[in-house]
Amino acid sequence: MAQAARPRRVLVTGGASGIGLAVVRAFAEEGDFVVSLDLTESSAASESVIGDVRESKSHEQAVATASKGEGLDVLVVNAGIHDGGLGLHSDVDELMAGLHSVLDIDVIGYVLALRAAASDLAAGSGTAILTLSDASFLAGQTGAGIAYTAAKHAQVGILMWAARALAPAVRVNGVAPGGVITGLCAIDKDGSKPLFADAESKRELVASRNPLGTVLEPEEVAQLFVWLASTAARGMTGQIIRPDGGLALR
Ligand code: NAD
Repeated sequence: MAQAARPRRVLVTGGASGIGLAVVRAFAEEGDFVVSLDLTESSAASESVIGDVRESKSHEQAVATASKGEGLDVLVVNAGIHDGGLGLHSDVDELMAGLHSVLDIDVIGYVLALRAAASDLAAGSGTAILTLSDASFLAGQTGAGIAYTAAKHAQVGILMWAARALAPAVRVNGVAPGGVITGLCAIDKDGSKPLFADAESKRELVASRNPLGTVLEPEEVAQLFVWLASTAARGMTGQIIRPDGGLALR
């Protein structure tokens, strides 16, 4: 008789909201042990580590909680913020603050997650999946400003580098959605505010921009993470799935 698969040990950064929360829920529904690292608790995680992805000790604590010293099966590097369309017209202080805020979380936070998890992933023959964005490819066409666009391009480099460096033990892939209506926050000089505050008009804008006219729900995007973590994707590393309604065809 075939042995039942044990629950996988999964860590998701930014698992308290939006795409990350849907990913946490999707793996939990598969029967996995899922830990979220976020500023607040995740309603769907087996355990939440409250921490900041800009700090390596938060990642180390999250990896230890998820792996229980026995290796990590899946790392989802996802926590991020947007820049709300920051441009070169911005006042220099605003531009510098925006660059530092976004790059610290969206670039350094991604590297710190991979660094903290690398040996536990290798021990568990695990897989890492990064949340990228249509802004990783389409500069200036998706409402993203210079900081978010730079960060999302940098994440492609991080993914490719890590896929090469961590092979053959660990597969590293990415999912780059188009607009998904979530709690994603944009930073500006007054702090952070929801990017999709007017969800209905944002939904129409996202749909009007892509050839398929799609606006995916976080739950639909999450299924791609589950698939990338499965044995069906065992031949894939350094790959990026782009559920963006065909934006590249425009
Ligand atoms: P979200 O705001 O709903 O989720 C992001 C999560 O990251 C939040 O729970 C937030 O608390 C957490 N986070 C932010 N800064 C953090 C920090 N310093 N330390 C710990 N946690 C922190 O937004 P989302 O849309 O689900 O975004 C998730 C990822 O998806 C991001 O990387 C984003 O760039 C990417 N993405 C989003 C869209 C979209 O349209 N929503 C499209 C493409 C890619």
